Amino acid sequence: MQENGKVVDIAIIGAGPGGMACAIEAKLAGIENIIVIDKAPHHNDMIHKFYKKGKRVDKDWMGIKFEFKGNVTFEECSKEEYILQMDEKLKNAGVLDKFEYNHDIIRVNKGADGLFEIIFGHDTVAEGIEKMRAKNVILSVGRMGKPNKPKYPFPKELKDRLNFNLSKVQNGERVMIVGGGDTAGEYAYGLVELEDMNDCVVTLNYRQAEIKRMNPLNTQMCTKYLDNGKILNKMGVDIESVEPTVDGKIQVNFTDGTNAEYDRAVYALGGTTPKDILVNSGVKTGEWDVPVFNPETMETNVEGLYTIGDVVTDQGSIALAFNHASFAVSNIASNLK
Ligand SMILES: Cc1cc2nc3c(=O)[nH]c(=O)nc-3n(C[C@H](O)[C@H](O)[C@H](O)COP(=O)(O)OP(=O)(O)OC[C@H]3O[C@@H](n4cnc5c(N)ncnc54)[C@H](O)[C@@H]3O)c2cc1C
Repeated sequence: MQENGKVVDIAIIGAGPGGMACAIEAKLAGIENIIVIDKAPHHNDMIHKFYKKGKRVDKDWMGIKFEFKGNVTFEECSKEEYILQMDEKLKNAGVLDKFEYNHDIIRVNKGADGLFEIIFGHDTVAEGIEKMRAKNVILSVGRMGKPNKPKYPFPKELKDRLNFNLSKVQNGERVMIVGGGDTAGEYAYGLVELEDMNDCVVTLNYRQAEIKRMNPLNTQMCTKYLDNGKILNKMGVDIESVEPTVDGKIQVNFTDGTNAEYDRAVYALGGTTPKDILVNSGVKTGEWDVPVFNPETMETNVEGLYTIGDVVTDQGSIALAFNHASFAVSNIASNLK
C-alpha cells in the first residue's frame, strides 16, 4: 500500500504491456517514486481476457516488424508463458509493490502547482492513494475499456437514445442523467448552463437520495440547481427497466412503481472509454480523434502528461507499447534531472 498524500515522480495509469514496461524502465532509470494503477485485479488484463487459451504471442504482430528500442523485451511463447515472463520481469526489477489494482481512473487534472491530481471513478474505493499527486503521468489505458452499463437490457429500438455522453443531446430534449459521481453531476449542471441547450429539461437520477460521491464544487452546483428546480430531482430510486413508447421515446420504469418519459438518457456510471480519459485530462485530439502527442517523447500538449501503447495507435502491439514506454520514461528521466 502506498503512502497517501505523497507526490510521486510518475503515475502510470494502466498495467498492460505499456504500463508495466514503464515501471521497469523507470526503475532502470533510477526513478523509484512511482505508482502504477489499473482497474483490473492484475497486470496484463487485456491479455488474460482477450487472448485465447494457449495463443502464441507473436513479436511481429499482424506482420508488422518491430525492433525493441528499450530495456523490456519478450520471447515469443504462449499466452500463459508470456504472463509468467512478465511476472518474472516485474519481480526481478523489484517493482511489484508499485502496482495498485482495482482502481478505475476517469481522468487526471493538472493543478496550478504543476502537479497532477488523479480522479478515481465513483465506484472505486481508493483508500490510501486517493490524495496522491504526480509530477508526471503516463496514460497507457489501451483501447478495450468501455463505459459501465446498467444491469437491465437496452431495447434495440432505443439504442440511439440511451447514451454514455452528451454528444447526441439536442436542445429542447427531456434528458435524464443517471449516476451519482462527478461525471453525472457535470453532465447535469453542464446541460443546464450550456447556452445552446437551455431549452432542455434535465433530470438527475441516482439510486441514493443524497449526493455523496461528487467533489465539493460539483455537489454545490448540483445542489443549487436541484434546489431551484432547474435540475429535476429523481434521486433515491433505482431504475428497473427501460422500454420504447409508441412514438419511440424512452419510458423509464422505476423500482418504486412510478414511470416517466424522456427523449434521452445519459448514463454516467463509470468505466469511461480510454479516449475519454485522454480528452477529459486535457489531451488535444486531431483528425479522426487521434490524440496529439510527440512521437519521440510520447508527451501530449499537456506538459508532463504522456500517452503510450494502443490508445494512441491503430496498429498496436506489445513490442510497440514497450518501445513507447522507453521513449516516455527516458524523456521524463531527463526532465527530472
Ligand atoms: C486477441 C488479440 C491478440 C493479440 N495478439 C498479439 C500478439 O500476438 N502480439 C502482439 O505484440 N500484440 C498482440 N495483440 C495486441 C496487444 O495485446 C496490444 O497491442 C497491447 O496489449 C497494448 O498494450 P497497452 O498497454 O497499450 O494496452 P492494454 O494491453 O489494453 O492495457 C491497458 C490497461 O489499462 C487498464 N485500464 C484501462 N482503462 C483504465 C482506467 N480507466 N483506469 C485504470 N486502468 C485502466 C486496463 O485494465 C489494461 O490493463 C493482440 C491483441 C488482441 C486483442
